[in-house]
Amino acid sequence: MSETRIVVVGAGVAGLTTALLLSRIAKYNITVAAKHMPGDYDIEYASPWAGADYLPVSAPGTEAAEWDRNTWTELEKLARHSPEAGVHFQDAFIYSRNTDFEGSEGSALGKAMSSDPWYKDIVPNFRKIPKSQLPAGFDDGTCFRSVCINTAIYLPWLTSECLKAGVVLKRGVFGHISEAAHTHHSGQKAELIVNCTGLSAGKIGGVEDKSMVPARGQTVLVRNEAIGIVGGSGTDDGDDEVCYVIPRAAGGGTILGGCYQEGNWDSQFDPNLANRIMKRAVELCPSLTDGKGIEHLSVIRHGVGLRPVRLRGTRIEKEKINGVWVVHNYGHGGYGYQSSYGCSQAAVKLVGEALAVRARL
Ligand code: FAD
Repeated sequence: MSETRIVVVGAGVAGLTTALLLSRIAKYNITVAAKHMPGDYDIEYASPWAGADYLPVSAPGTEAAEWDRNTWTELEKLARHSPEAGVHFQDAFIYSRNTDFEGSEGSALGKAMSSDPWYKDIVPNFRKIPKSQLPAGFDDGTCFRSVCINTAIYLPWLTSECLKAGVVLKRGVFGHISEAAHTHHSGQKAELIVNCTGLSAGKIGGVEDKSMVPARGQTVLVRNEAIGIVGGSGTDDGDDEVCYVIPRAAGGGTILGGCYQEGNWDSQFDPNLANRIMKRAVELCPSLTDGKGIEHLSVIRHGVGLRPVRLRGTRIEKEKINGVWVVHNYGHGGYGYQSSYGCSQAAVKLVGEALAVRARL
């Protein structure tokens, strides 16, 4: 059987998941080429900085909700059967304030923390938290079984799974997306490119998607343990600040966040914001420090990442650029992990469709 050469540009969660799913189709011969690889920490590389948990922000009945739904099935399987992937089950305690859902105020992340979300039917043990058990200042609360992904384990695990399946990974920096066709490890031109360049889709030639914007997120990784995922729909410190606590699997520490600063490209951590993040986290989740202050947090590192937001929504599309088929899978904002399998499945379908068109010509 003749092989089809494919280059996936990008080694974040989108590129690696797409490469892994493509590798399960025997006729595809795949290269992943990227400027950044698992192990790197860089402001141009969002994936290592994510919490990362499963808390869908998609609207009910949309394509995006379908991608999130399909991703739960896969993440649930990993948490159940593949401890080496660094994905574990955690109870999520999500608290909301009525004021965060009024008018246009409130953060994009906070607004998603509704007490009646569409995904209540797919995550196990979804239930309301009795009013008497809510932290001070919150009007509602829900609890359900979610998963947390330790990105420091999960990205290398995805890489290993790709390598096991024969995918070749290499470094490459492209000024134009169509250049990637010439980087296939076979030395021959690739028939198809998958574009998983995240925020750089706004800049890379041939794509230059002007609806890409960063949503800056600052975090503190600590050694302290939390009772589960804890999140609040808003804070009194401004519309672009949020509070969440995400315990990572397998000794990965606990991520404290955060903020959602759209349009902010700053790669440096702000120490005042870091203090507010820690203060809010120990208030909302006192068990972190046994009810003591932030001086009892043991900090591993501060982090800053840029969520690759596409104002028009995640782009899963195919088009011909300079005579080569390109399948796009980028623009996952603050939900690249929780939509990763659904989006990659959709991208793999488009790869098949594009190659079928090509075969007919
Ligand atoms: P990236 O990880 O940015 O990867 C892009 C890849 O493309 C890199 O390998 C890069 O080198 C390569 N590339 C780009 N341009 C070029 C070029 N010109 N030439 C060659 N290579 C190129 N998501 C969740 O689901 N749950 C969460 O709890 C969550 N929490 C988050 C918290 C924070 C603080 C942040 C910052 C993000 C969070 N996210 C979360 C979002 C998630 O991290 C992103 O949606 C996801 O990582 C995007 O992955 P990606 O592969 O599209 O992009």
